[in-house]
Amino acid sequence: MNAGIQGSLFGAPEGRFARIALDTPVRREFSYHLPPACEPVHAGCRVRVPFGGRESIGVVVAVEDHPPVDVPLDRMKSIHANLDPEPLLTPALLRLAHSIADEAFCSWGQALAAMLPAALRRNRPRRTIPVVEWIGQLDEGQLQKLEKKFPKQAKAVAYLRQAGGPMELREFRNRTGLSKSPLDSLAKKGWVKFGRKKDFLDPFADACQLRDTPPSLTVPQQDNVDRIVAALDQHHYQGFLLFGITGSGKTEVYLHALEHCLQQGRGAIVLVPEIALTPQTVSRFRARCGDVAVLHSGLTDAERHDQWLAIREGKVRVVVGARSALFAPMPNLGLIVLDEEHESSFKQESTPRYHARDVALERCRLEHAVCVLGSATPSLEAWAATTHKADGLVKLELRERVAGGALPKIQVVDMREQKPEQAKWLVLSQPLVHALQQTLRRKERAILFLNQRGFAPAWHCRSCGGSVHCQTCDVALTYHRWRKKAICHYCLHEEEPPQICPHCGRKVEMVGVGTERAEDTVQRLHPQARLARMDRDTMLRRESYEQVLSDFGAGKIDVLLGTQMVAKGLDFPEVTLVGVLNADTALHHPDFRASERCFNLIAQVAGRAGRSARGGQVVVQTWMPEHPAIQAAQHHDYERFAKQELEERKLFGFPPYGVVLRLTFEAEQWQRVEQNAQDAVQKLLAMQAPNTKILGPSAPPVEKLRGRIRRQILIKTQRQGLYQLRPVLYDLCQKRGVTVDPL
Ligand code: ADP
Ligand code: ZN
Repeated sequence: MNAGIQGSLFGAPEGRFARIALDTPVRREFSYHLPPACEPVHAGCRVRVPFGGRESIGVVVAVEDHPPVDVPLDRMKSIHANLDPEPLLTPALLRLAHSIADEAFCSWGQALAAMLPAALRRNRPRRTIPVVEWIGQLDEGQLQKLEKKFPKQAKAVAYLRQAGGPMELREFRNRTGLSKSPLDSLAKKGWVKFGRKKDFLDPFADACQLRDTPPSLTVPQQDNVDRIVAALDQHHYQGFLLFGITGSGKTEVYLHALEHCLQQGRGAIVLVPEIALTPQTVSRFRARCGDVAVLHSGLTDAERHDQWLAIREGKVRVVVGARSALFAPMPNLGLIVLDEEHESSFKQESTPRYHARDVALERCRLEHAVCVLGSATPSLEAWAATTHKADGLVKLELRERVAGGALPKIQVVDMREQKPEQAKWLVLSQPLVHALQQTLRRKERAILFLNQRGFAPAWHCRSCGGSVHCQTCDVALTYHRWRKKAICHYCLHEEEPPQICPHCGRKVEMVGVGTERAEDTVQRLHPQARLARMDRDTMLRRESYEQVLSDFGAGKIDVLLGTQMVAKGLDFPEVTLVGVLNADTALHHPDFRASERCFNLIAQVAGRAGRSARGGQVVVQTWMPEHPAIQAAQHHDYERFAKQELEERKLFGFPPYGVVLRLTFEAEQWQRVEQNAQDAVQKLLAMQAPNTKILGPSAPPVEKLRGRIRRQILIKTQRQGLYQLRPVLYDLCQKRGVTVDPL
């Protein structure tokens, strides 16, 4: 193998040396020899290096003239090739990645890898997106035969038909959990066709001008713009929290700040939740800022690569995108806007487990830029930071809706008071049925929200109280009627719907309500209503999502029913009724943010109603009407909610007043997992961190996942305690089967 570098007999070889960060959990950098042929190499360039018997792509973090002391020269390997004539990552981004690695418990290389688009992490970027499409014709009989002989192929057929058009292969895998081989078999039979989306229809390509002339700002909008502009003119770091109710014109404030930033000759990044990244959103920015790069998940590697280079070279000065756009290599950055900063999708749930809010603020600090966080329901972290001088967020407010419309009235329906014989199956309460009727009669539109897909989320045995779980996960199976199957939402395993209880052998019954069942009920009660269901099962292609939204906007659909997809960011003035079918689902999670999620959700969904002079109403169904989160949401009283919730957090030492980390251990055997977790507890306790609680090992909400056993440890501490625990945590995060997650 590689036997070290070809040095001269007298010591140092020709050329320089580089420290390389590699995408491995090991929290250190690696020294390599830098042959003159690879020059010029700078910190921030990607290089190809031999690593662990293979070739990897790493990022140069330092270049040195003298040989490093950590590796003997005769064992040091050489860089194979330099991939970037100019550094792809700016010094600020290198430093940002370093701080992410420290805060989110991973290696510098892993943090850098997360910053780079996949195209730049791979050797050979994909130029096109592979897709697969159903072209066969099968009748029910043939399908049943297929189902018996080749269940995987039958499953593939079901999903492809449901998609109703070319489906991205990656999406197909994600949704079905199947490999490509059933598709290959189907292709041989001539039933499916593989293709490539070369002339990929970028949904944002023609998202352009809506309006040329900006509206003149209201007085409160102007005040806020002035504050941000003044901060931009200082060329120092400043963080703002723009607290503005839904429809108060926050976007207009961002746009004016953006314009000023561009006039200064600086660049800007706008982050929105993935779900809000729609052509409508993008066109608002394009109409005002001209050339706007959109970083979204539908880009091919090649397109993404091009976008990155254009940004890096300063050709595009505004970037709009979801979480990862945060790392756009914008030179001379002036402004980062993080809209809907409270959204949980801004937290990455895989390595590195960073929160975009923290990273956006940190990046602005490093680059002397201005950061504007915006929300109608700010995260308690951001809210608290406006009253703590140390964190230095300045609060800006918009308290009125621009259009003058009042916030919709929220009616809370106590589901316990509905007739008991109905209650179990009850999808729509009387007040909601009535409101829907009125809305339809007036030819207005409604949105119904339910955070549960499928037909029924569980089977329950009335004799022994048992329920039916997935074979490999500790998760209840959901009945999906379109598949006529019981499906595990974690591993996508599916099986025939159970008839009898696996524990006692008696009959089981389906319980609960999912979107399929809700759709059914609404259609039965209102046969004339044109109804569209929007959830992961009906929206198998991005195109379907755009289509339904545009139909809803055009008045071809009366009622839009669905999961989160209908809850956030939609701006349809014709919507006068919003129904929340079950407001308490969020409250049942063992999570200190459960109340916050519940409050946010009601407030956000409610914000979809009454966006015009016609006003609007909201009906919220709940079994816990007295819960403080629901009470506060009913009165649109964010400040009351924040006050009571922060008091509670303070009392129990939860963020923002404390630090909470979740350690998860995973392995095949219980014994091993338990042992590893116990060892970790001992090591953590030995650090004797002050004001610290180490809780566990205990069972996480999902104890078994894809056949692997899981145990967890919760750490509750303060900054100081965390500092003391760090050596142990850094050690743990490099181990296989262990994740360290700052909550
Ligand atoms: P938010 O983001 O706070 O929910 P938006 O920025 O989407 O609110 O504004 C709501 C609506 O009001 C949009 O249709 C927007 O075009 C309009 N709007 C915003 N500011 C003004 C203004 N100063 N004059 C007139 N219309 C405005
Ligand atoms: Zn499963």
